[in-house]
Amino acid sequence: MRLIIFCFTGLLYILLTGCATTEVEKDTPLQLSELQDTALKSELAWEILESLTTEVGARMPGTAKDAEAVAWMQSKFKQLGFDKVWLEPVTFPNWVRGKERLEMLSPFTHVLPVTALGGSPSTQGEIRAEVQEFKTLKDLQAVAAGSLDGKIAYISYRMQRQPDGSGYGPARNARSLGPFVAAEKGAVALVIRSIGTDDTRFPHTGSISGSQSTQPVPAVAISNPDADLLSLTLARGKPVELLLDIASGYQGNYTSYNVIAEITGTRAPHEVVIVGGHLDSWDMGTGANDDASGIAITTAAARLVADQQRPQRSIWVVAFANEEQGLYGAKAFAKAHAHELDRFVLGNEADFGAGRAYSLRVNVRSEALPAIAELARQLAPLGIELDLTRKASGSADIGRLRAVGVPVVDVGQDGSKYFDWHHTDNDTLDKIDPESLAQNVAARATIIDFAANSRIIFGPIAVSK
Ligand SMILES: [Zn+2]
Repeated sequence: MRLIIFCFTGLLYILLTGCATTEVEKDTPLQLSELQDTALKSELAWEILESLTTEVGARMPGTAKDAEAVAWMQSKFKQLGFDKVWLEPVTFPNWVRGKERLEMLSPFTHVLPVTALGGSPSTQGEIRAEVQEFKTLKDLQAVAAGSLDGKIAYISYRMQRQPDGSGYGPARNARSLGPFVAAEKGAVALVIRSIGTDDTRFPHTGSISGSQSTQPVPAVAISNPDADLLSLTLARGKPVELLLDIASGYQGNYTSYNVIAEITGTRAPHEVVIVGGHLDSWDMGTGANDDASGIAITTAAARLVADQQRPQRSIWVVAFANEEQGLYGAKAFAKAHAHELDRFVLGNEADFGAGRAYSLRVNVRSEALPAIAELARQLAPLGIELDLTRKASGSADIGRLRAVGVPVVDVGQDGSKYFDWHHTDNDTLDKIDPESLAQNVAARATIIDFAANSRIIFGPIAVSK
């Protein structure tokens, strides 16, 4: 009996120590690769970001700043020693911002900071009209055609703050479609509450959708506090009269450029891992989050991968032209390379600021999923987890390639604050955290290194348009 007890306690001891050993192994920190370690310490992305925002700043498509940004990008790629740097033309209708003025005339008087939405026509002088509030775009859609004759429609829906930025989807249609719906209802103009999560008086601009067949009414955004002010005034039940005077509109065409840089691969130079962001921004702020961060993250990541060892496959970094006003750069790129889509072995875009990366989403052929599991294992030390609950989109620009079958991965980033600054005067360098910027570089460098130094075939994927 005593022996049995001894054996039992001995076994228990072995089991416990066995468990204890396992616990110790679990607690051992996951090892960063040398590339990740280098990327986390590198200041290259910060230097690129600081250079673009300081030396160029706001760079709205079709302005002199657009050309300055193209020249800056070209020389930056060359200075960083990319093997090839070239331009591909992108032509689009040139929307020009003019004067902007919004005042409340009655029952109280206020001057309201305002921004015209991209693509908005001019008011052709001052409009003085009574305003009618709609809580959502749907409420505006529900009223009879012609029922708003001579009035200004106002959509007061407030975007919800979410870490993954998912509040943007339900909010953005007020901006993109609202001006067309308001026109159908007979309104003379549209005012929206900014699509943003901040409490500053900076209004958020952004494009109306250029693909609609009807003509939009002049459309502007006011800040969250001013939207509250307007709603509180309307809640008093008396007519509220606004004065709106904006002079924006389209003036001919403009040709900008996608700026592309290549690190030429050794074994399979024809095969390309494609990454990038968009070079343009709005004319407000310095476009630090949107999207100088994406340019900096992907450029630095490609450079750091190549510094370690020349990759087997080629790497392209694409700085897309005019994303903001209708994905013109992405569409031109997809068209120009339509005959060679099978060259692009994997795509990844950075266009969500520099908030900490926490997830990896994928859109690859099923045969590549075991390889993705290995990539996820390599990303784990950076705090990034594989998320198979939804497919990667490729984001705005590389999403155009995904739509025609190019496999992509997305890096999910913390966007809790992104929509505080998005498309405003407040999107400036001080909003970027250098540590999370570097962590994003480490994530992209891991992905690029993994894809460019392998023979894995990630695609094609189903064409989705
Ligand atoms: Zn963007």
